[in-house]
Amino acid sequence: MNTFQDLGLNDLLLNAISDLGFKTPSEVQDKAIPILLENDGDLVALAQTGTGKTAAFGFPMLQKINIDSRTTQGLILSPTRELCLQITNELKNYGKYYKGLNVTAIYGGASITEQAKQVKQGTQIIVATPGRMKDMISRRLVDISKIEYAVLDEADEMLNMGFYEDITDILSHTPEDKSTWLFSATMPKEVATIAKKFMTNPTEITVGTKNVGSDQVSHEYYLVNSRDRYLALKRLADANPDIFSVIFCRTKRDTQKVAEKLIEDGYSAGALHGDLSQNQRDLVMKSFRNKQIQMLVATDVAARGIDVDDITHVINYQLPDEIETYTHRSGRTGRAGKTGVSMVIVSKSEVRKIKSIERIIKKNFENKNIPDGMEICEVQLMSLANKVHNTEVNHEIDSYLESINTLFEDTSKDELIKKFFSVEFTRFFNYYQKSKDLNIEATNSSERDGGSLKDVDDTRYFINVGRKDGYDWMTLKDFLKEQLDLGRDDVFKVDVKESFSFFNTEKSLTEKVIAYFTDFKHNGRFVNVEVSENRGGGRGRDRGRRSGGRRDDRRSRRSDDRRNDDNSNRRSRRSDSGNRGEKRSSDKSKRSNSDFKSGGKSGSSRPRRSRR
Ligand code: AMP
Repeated sequence: MNTFQDLGLNDLLLNAISDLGFKTPSEVQDKAIPILLENDGDLVALAQTGTGKTAAFGFPMLQKINIDSRTTQGLILSPTRELCLQITNELKNYGKYYKGLNVTAIYGGASITEQAKQVKQGTQIIVATPGRMKDMISRRLVDISKIEYAVLDEADEMLNMGFYEDITDILSHTPEDKSTWLFSATMPKEVATIAKKFMTNPTEITVGTKNVGSDQVSHEYYLVNSRDRYLALKRLADANPDIFSVIFCRTKRDTQKVAEKLIEDGYSAGALHGDLSQNQRDLVMKSFRNKQIQMLVATDVAARGIDVDDITHVINYQLPDEIETYTHRSGRTGRAGKTGVSMVIVSKSEVRKIKSIERIIKKNFENKNIPDGMEICEVQLMSLANKVHNTEVNHEIDSYLESINTLFEDTSKDELIKKFFSVEFTRFFNYYQKSKDLNIEATNSSERDGGSLKDVDDTRYFINVGRKDGYDWMTLKDFLKEQLDLGRDDVFKVDVKESFSFFNTEKSLTEKVIAYFTDFKHNGRFVNVEVSENRGGGRGRDRGRRSGGRRDDRRSRRSDDRRNDDNSNRRSRRSDSGNRGEKRSSDKSKRSNSDFKSGGKSGSSRPRRSRR
């Protein structure tokens, strides 16, 4: 693997790269930068968002422009205002040691006069959205007749959004002999046409495989009745207390509706769609970036250009009309070297689309079950236990300690712990104890067996390692298979949380699994496995208590192991907003036990916890 020095970058850029903390070039940077530095030809680069594309074209452009000249030499077209601002910021960061560098962002929804003023002061690089750029050209507020480098970023997105005419028009105002660099996640016919029409013998580089999703993302689908979509969404959120997600809906109306319902139910959610004003969209994005919003419900168009690196889950509340759009959706997670999960909630009538998507992304989906109530209670309880364990003591409490101690004088430690956790647990338990199974069986041959039919003879286990130990479902499955010397299909329904996980095996393997992990140490720490009380969203199994001897010592060891858990902001914030519920709505309560909404006073509904 090359270093940034090997790629031929100058010291001004290398110093900025070191400030940014980039250690090694990403694949697209490794492939594109030497070509762009050494040649003046055209380039087509197929790369997903989040792969470091901006630097792949940004570093060479900065190195090649004449910084002493105030003429506009580089033009970058990007599909959305959001992306336009991000690219501008990134370029400013990359070029921080270039004295006299001016990078100007041109986009709709902001003062055109102000943007024209900035251009007039002399800007070497313009980053623009096509609509506003065309407007500025027709009003003669910009001059791009001398540009040497044109970048079409996220070309497939721009064409999807109907910018073909605008792009053609803009490029007609640029010199013939410029270099054109086209970046696109996918290569539909329209992008190939643009490449043919505006480029001469472009060099083509591909990062990963064409149209293929990132390797960092695992794909899961959940089969439910259409009417249970919303309940399924809430369960997925509740089963992932650290979730930081984008939820995709097909229409603006559904987007608004789902976001409103989530907010009403106490989740930290927000809507992002085209019917909102620019100002409203900016506010939502700001809250999302600051992680005040954990669940951003968005339409495909509005979500284009969302460039937030640590999104843990993408949830397809509905599948997109064009299945190719799935690649863009799932590409919002698994960015900048992190892993992510793309979940799809499907009804029976849509399940065949999963196969078509698999063909496009060249990856398989895992058919998973919507977690049942007890699994969610367990996850929430353990997440709270971790949070309490890692909370720093606030010594302001000290002066009240005496009164509190007096109050609990006759309460044992065990009793106190139980009472303390019951405050939170009981709310989830009351809400979920009678909740119904939301999963439905796949019935025809085109549908998948997934794992749901195996449940009758499975055992579900709890294991005290999770994402913070570097596992995702694939690596944990590999680890378990390797340790237990099991085959490919023997470990299934692996569900990795922040500091613990669940998995299933056939019931006949239970003894072997428990025996193997008794007093088991890996990399110097105890790895503890217990039979879990929850059923992993499956059906048909007895809901027994956790079994396995020596439970008490294991428990204490597990809490020791957790001492090293990190205590991320997200977790603590999520736990604050974790008390959201599906209160029983009066008309629906007759239909099903689990049809709750928040805030009700009835005993079966969970009271809402105050949100921040
Ligand atoms: P992009 O695909 O350009 O949107 O980049 C995605 C994210 O990765 C951005 O936050 C970049 O700052 C970051 N990034 C780009 N190149 C590297 C690198 N070589 N090492 C680490 N992070 C990077």
